[in-house]
Amino acid sequence: MEPFPLVIGHSAVKADLMRCLESGRLRGSFLLVGPEGVGRRRLALEVAKAAACQAGGERMPCGECGTCHRIGRGTSGDVLVLSRPEGKSKIPIEEVRKLLEEMALAPVESPVRTFVIDGAGDLMEETQNALLKALEEPPADVLILLIAERASEVIPTILSRCRLLQTGELSLEQVAEVLRREGVAPEEVEARARWSNGSPGQALAEDALDLAEVAQAAVERLAAGARRDPMGFQELLAEFVQPGKGESRVQRDRVARLVRLLQRVLRDVLLLREGAQGPLLAGAGRDELGALAQLPAGRVERALDALTAADDDLSRNANVKLLLDGIALELSKHLTPALEPHRG
Ligand SMILES: [Zn+2]
Repeated sequence: MEPFPLVIGHSAVKADLMRCLESGRLRGSFLLVGPEGVGRRRLALEVAKAAACQAGGERMPCGECGTCHRIGRGTSGDVLVLSRPEGKSKIPIEEVRKLLEEMALAPVESPVRTFVIDGAGDLMEETQNALLKALEEPPADVLILLIAERASEVIPTILSRCRLLQTGELSLEQVAEVLRREGVAPEEVEARARWSNGSPGQALAEDALDLAEVAQAAVERLAAGARRDPMGFQELLAEFVQPGKGESRVQRDRVARLVRLLQRVLRDVLLLREGAQGPLLAGAGRDELGALAQLPAGRVERALDALTAADDDLSRNANVKLLLDGIALELSKHLTPALEPHRG
């Protein structure tokens, strides 16, 4: 039986965790890395259950004992989760100091207490330094799980003290399975999953269908030759900026999701050029991408470079409206199929 059945995907990480559990080494410090929305926090809580579950036996965690239930409901005194408070840009250092004081206390009911920091990238360097000693020599009955998007978000001294667990994007089928389990209307599952960047969290987002619509429309415009109507293409992307949300983190995350979807579309175009038969990465169909796959690879790669640069600029606080205008310009320039030769 697949371990941690409440979490879909991430087989290699789960196998690694089971080896730790079986050899009694599910203690100490772990860094769980991977894209936002793929189930990292859920996996961390299942690991906390496995470390604390009183039932033992073959199926770990049992999911049925009082300990498992309390952890699932967030009421266990032996599992503490720290994340960035609403409206703050970082996790305050005082919160981490409180967590460190808690670590010195004995478990309430389980053999081990688990401390989850969801968003290690939201810790200032000073705060990360405050955590170092605990990560290096945690008390024997403590399990620390740091969650981050990239390993580079933590300082090297933290990285070297943690066991690294790398999660990744889920397949289309896995995302769809999560959506079905979450009770998403059957007619929405496909569109949400296909335009989710392999992330159930993104597929479940309130604006996931809006995003799918814009991405789909962008592909259609590009395939039809965006340079023939550059303003139209620019307006299409600009409309995706939410009025009233300014340059907020919500807005930037939203635009970043669109940029990454367009990157996946272009990677699909390159795959199709090479004659790949496997499943595509984004939601556009093979037929829709046919015209783009006729373009020279160099032009698709230049468009892809522009998107990669835009993704970097977003993390450096570039203005979202200007950024989307720039993308519209670059994509129409590189991706418009050659005009029909003038006849007559
Ligand atoms: Zn249990």
